[in-house]
Amino acid sequence: MKDRSSRRKPVVDAVIVGSGPNGLAAAVTLARAGLAVRVYERDGALGGGAATREITLPGFRNDVCSAVHPMAFVSRFFREFGLRHRVDFVTPDVSFAHPLDGGRAAIAFRDLARTRDGMGRDGAAYERLMRPLVDRVDGIADLTGSSLLRMPRDPLAALVFGLRALEQGTVDWNTRFAEDLAPALLTGAAAHSILSQPSIAAAGAGLMLQTLAHAQGWPIPIGGTQSIVDAMVNDVRAHGGEFVTDHEVSSLAELPASRAVLLDVTPRAFIRLAGESMPSGYRSALQRFRYGGGVAKVDFALSEPVPWADPDVRAAGTVHVGGSRAEIAAAENAVNNGAIPDRPYVLVAQPSTFDSTRAPAGQHTLWAYTHVPAGSTADRTEAVISQIERFAPGFRDTILATAHRNAVDLERHNPNYVGGDIAAGAPSLRQLIARPVLRTDPWRSPIPGVYLASSSASPGPGVHGLVGWHAALSALRHEFGTRALPDLSPR
Ligand SMILES: Cc1cc2nc3c(=O)[nH]c(=O)nc-3n(C[C@H](O)[C@H](O)[C@H](O)COP(=O)(O)OP(=O)(O)OC[C@H]3O[C@@H](n4cnc5c(N)ncnc54)[C@H](O)[C@@H]3O)c2cc1C
Repeated sequence: MKDRSSRRKPVVDAVIVGSGPNGLAAAVTLARAGLAVRVYERDGALGGGAATREITLPGFRNDVCSAVHPMAFVSRFFREFGLRHRVDFVTPDVSFAHPLDGGRAAIAFRDLARTRDGMGRDGAAYERLMRPLVDRVDGIADLTGSSLLRMPRDPLAALVFGLRALEQGTVDWNTRFAEDLAPALLTGAAAHSILSQPSIAAAGAGLMLQTLAHAQGWPIPIGGTQSIVDAMVNDVRAHGGEFVTDHEVSSLAELPASRAVLLDVTPRAFIRLAGESMPSGYRSALQRFRYGGGVAKVDFALSEPVPWADPDVRAAGTVHVGGSRAEIAAAENAVNNGAIPDRPYVLVAQPSTFDSTRAPAGQHTLWAYTHVPAGSTADRTEAVISQIERFAPGFRDTILATAHRNAVDLERHNPNYVGGDIAAGAPSLRQLIARPVLRTDPWRSPIPGVYLASSSASPGPGVHGLVGWHAALSALRHEFGTRALPDLSPR
């Protein structure tokens, strides 16, 4: 076993900087391996991009960042952790909906056959696109659950997925479709990536989310995303881990002596924290890491559910607002070119439809965000309201209160969201393969004992804890000489 500092006696075995889902996953894994763990968090509360608060009015609880958790159920970390035994989830029958003008909507039911039946003339084509992916969901989750430089466990799943991402990621993306419902549904899911469209990386992100929509649904935690954080924090505490909040770490040198340091921060912050201790070649590689477009968030308190014109949209956990495939591509391409679109793509979640803990009886919360150029200070409240009103006439009259955060506010709240980039690094094709650098163990840095454990590393953004888990397993192997997977199950 190595000591990170030959001069200082370790005070704890492992220090973790940042308590987002990845920092907490690392803390759970290391504490369960029997190590003394300490987590430092700059905010007064734990959880990073996974927190639930009263943002608009008393009694209305909105998710501050993440709200819907398609990746949580297929995450190897959360499966080992037994998340579904620790947190109650509701999984809507409609994973997501995509309203179009004229009161119509494309609906992604959990049931693929039911989705096909609602797709008009394109039903069979949509099913042919999605069925092979849904049938191989475990292979696809494995492919997108670690470094892409690894041999996939299910090569056929990788091939089927890759071919479809190629098709949907190029200008030929409409080849198999005759109508507008299926293309809109696919583009709405791909737009989660905040990338230009069509592009292979956006198509890959969308197809992965769409596969999960039909294979298992898009679950919502009862009590909000905070429930996931609470489960991880409780587990760390139960295994002797400590938390220090309101403590911004500004240098690795200030940390107590330990054998391992795991950083739930961006490459930009890592360079600053490491200072002269970072080898120049690695620093140059991290300086090449690119951050993506930003987000402006609008939270609502509502007097009643959103009056979507198509009643099926009311049963959806998530709604992709923005119109046709062409309209959403134009809006996303404008954002990627530094412009603010008049009619933006808006991601909407309506958790209080399924979870009565979110709002006073009979009333509702609504969570929405839209993409903006990095660093934008634009207030997008009116644009978001107009887009929802377009597909839900009367929506404006249901609004009791709104709360807006622009891209700069998001970064101020959490420095991992550089310029408002909620992915902590653009999920471009290059940065999916080299995240943050081209290595089979992208979590381990050349600084002895120091690991990157944020969504800036593979496999990237989302509440799945996989970055923290992989970083912790790498630290266990290299710093503590153990290859055994710690038992993370609820006891
Ligand atoms: C508006 C929004 C909506 C989203 N929606 C979804 C969704 O619906 N589903 C989904 O799966 N994902 C969603 N995401 C993405 C998801 O929240 C992130 O991918 C995830 O939180 C990343 O986890 P992380 O642990 O890597 O980092 P974060 O959650 O960003 O946590 C990093 C933590 O480190 C702390 N920190 C940073 N620097 C320091 C320092 N120097 N010292 C001490 N502490 C420090 C920060 O304060 C923060 O608490 C959303 C994000 C946002 C912002």
